[in-house]
Amino acid sequence: MIELHGLTKRYGEKTAVDDLTFRVRPGVVTGFLGPNGAGKSTTMRMMLGLDNPTGGDVRIDGKRYDQLHEPLNYIGALLEAKAVHGGRTAYNHLLCMAQSNGIPRRRIDEVLDLVGLTGVAKKRPKGFSLGMGQRLGIAAALLGDPKILMFDEPVNGLDPEGIHWIRNLMKQLADEGRTVFVSSHLMSEMALTADHLVVIGQGKLMADTSMADFIAEN
Ligand code: ADP
Ligand code: ADP
Repeated sequence: MIELHGLTKRYGEKTAVDDLTFRVRPGVVTGFLGPNGAGKSTTMRMMLGLDNPTGGDVRIDGKRYDQLHEPLNYIGALLEAKAVHGGRTAYNHLLCMAQSNGIPRRRIDEVLDLVGLTGVAKKRPKGFSLGMGQRLGIAAALLGDPKILMFDEPVNGLDPEGIHWIRNLMKQLADEGRTVFVSSHLMSEMALTADHLVVIGQGKLMADTSMADFIAEN
């Protein structure tokens, strides 16, 4: 469970995230919908402890970030699609992350298998397609077997097969009892992905409702 209480972020005069209060529950996929610039990424960065709020707070299972001991084992995240740098192979990229987080080596084979990249583990990600890059990012997010997963616009630019695969994976992770939080600027995408919907506009909470109720009312 993730809880936001009055979460706020200001950049000078601009309020990017404005007094957000909502909960993200385990066992379902919660969609985070809003147009570009609504404040989704800024909110998610604060939910991940990567950015400090101007006001309010984020609690993960009742704890603030400074009280969490093993963040990577607790929360996995896929932020904006970003190429993996350097000359490391996909396997070695994951190995570095595993080693710096005390994760056993065998877990690397498991996550590579889970995302379907076993066959290209010895290749360098700079030659990967966008979809393969997303799979590698997801493998990294799953390394610590986290209870909470956050995906920021994960299907942007992907082909239909890649989109379908990510949707199914998110459903599966939720069915396993994990907390899954995924952002998109597309209602059509959210309708196919999320069980629950949190909507923001200009940093403010516009709706926090089950997908069925949202569709019935809009
Ligand atoms: P979204 O992810 O929904 O597209 P963002 O969270 O990226 O929205 O941005 C919300 C608003 O905050 C935008 O107007 C953006 O320009 C602004 N913003 C985000 N990061 C910064 C920053 N570091 N400095 C100033 N403004 C920012
Ligand atoms: P997104 O694609 O999620 O909307 P942006 O393109 O708005 O993200 O932002 C990309 C990066 O630039 C982020 O690190 C964000 O914090 C920063 N940023 C966004 N808007 C501004 C701004 N107006 N001034 C300074 N930094 C910004």
